[in-house]
Amino acid sequence: SEAEGSSPGLRPRGVLGKLPRYAAGKPPVMVDGLESFKLSSNENPLPPLPAVLAAIASETSINRYPDPMTTALRTELAAYLGVPATDIVTGAGSLGALNQILATFAGQNDFDAPDEVVYAWRSFEAYPISVGLAGAAGIQVPVRADGTHDLEAMAAAITDRTRVVLLCTPNNPTGPILTRDEVVDFLAEVPSHVVVVIDEAYQEFVRRPDAVNGIELYRDYGNVIVLRTFSKAHGLAGLRVGYSVSQPSLTEHLRVSAVPFAVSQIAEHAAVTSLRHIDEVEARVQLIVDERTRVVEGLRGLGWNVPEAEGNFVWLALGDHTQDFAARAGEHALSVRAFGSEGVRVSIGEETANTRFLELCGEYTHRPA
Ligand code: PMP
Repeated sequence: SEAEGSSPGLRPRGVLGKLPRYAAGKPPVMVDGLESFKLSSNENPLPPLPAVLAAIASETSINRYPDPMTTALRTELAAYLGVPATDIVTGAGSLGALNQILATFAGQNDFDAPDEVVYAWRSFEAYPISVGLAGAAGIQVPVRADGTHDLEAMAAAITDRTRVVLLCTPNNPTGPILTRDEVVDFLAEVPSHVVVVIDEAYQEFVRRPDAVNGIELYRDYGNVIVLRTFSKAHGLAGLRVGYSVSQPSLTEHLRVSAVPFAVSQIAEHAAVTSLRHIDEVEARVQLIVDERTRVVEGLRGLGWNVPEAEGNFVWLALGDHTQDFAARAGEHALSVRAFGSEGVRVSIGEETANTRFLELCGEYTHRPA
């Protein structure tokens, strides 16, 4: 490539050549006469709250650095979650918070024996990149046929080298949650020096009463870190605000590895404002959950096998028809996310988009059985 040709002397770390490339959701392609919809990044389809837009517009001191401790946001979050503000660490999206956790606990401490990070697969596609970049070795444990984590196999995959386990609930892209009981049983199997991250990016969309809620759990475990984000329910993906919640024994280390000023004052002000309008946020989340119910019931009514969908997306295990289905969706001005020859993830979007998606599925012959 041109980049390689112009800088022949550079020696990027060997691991970079082995990392998968993050394939961000593509914008929809225009189709004549049709409104286009992006259903490929699990974004919130609703526009920002008016109060949030006003808060952003009011931020004039951007010649100054933001508060590195994000005191206003952590104080607001502490009240919302019912936890001490000292247990919260903010980052540039929950992905920023996750990279910080990995940089803190897992890496290439010994050249012959990199630390190991255990996670389910398929799961969030940034995991292999973040783990590899940290210098650690990813140990991928296949999800079960119904898209749930195989926690027994994950516990069995823990070795002397394991430093971190990543749990994703609801699991992106397959959809199901982990229950509280499952996670409690799993934690009993995990050595107390192994950090267990519970990635709850989609927690606000969960409706199953027996689902795990890391915030209710972490105070009993000195090795549990809960990850949350403003990107999904709050609809602030473009501002990059996420956070982790854990005991001070963990946060004391995370504060050392924190990227200074990772959250801008604009992002912090928007997040604080969104929390102060939590009733409006929750009403919007409910609209998306209602649409999710309509989509899942519609698909099942068509005879499609759809796993439990507790996030703002559905998973279609289309196998060899994955790329074909994604192309067909594109012809209907819907951008969806295709994963190899495994399946397609479709975000719950605007009502019109969801209806068009259901119509497309009704015409498609190769339904996941
Ligand atoms: N975790 C999961 C499971 C996700 O699906 C995503 C976003 N797709 C993230 C973390 C990262 O989100 P953000 O960095 O925007 O908070």
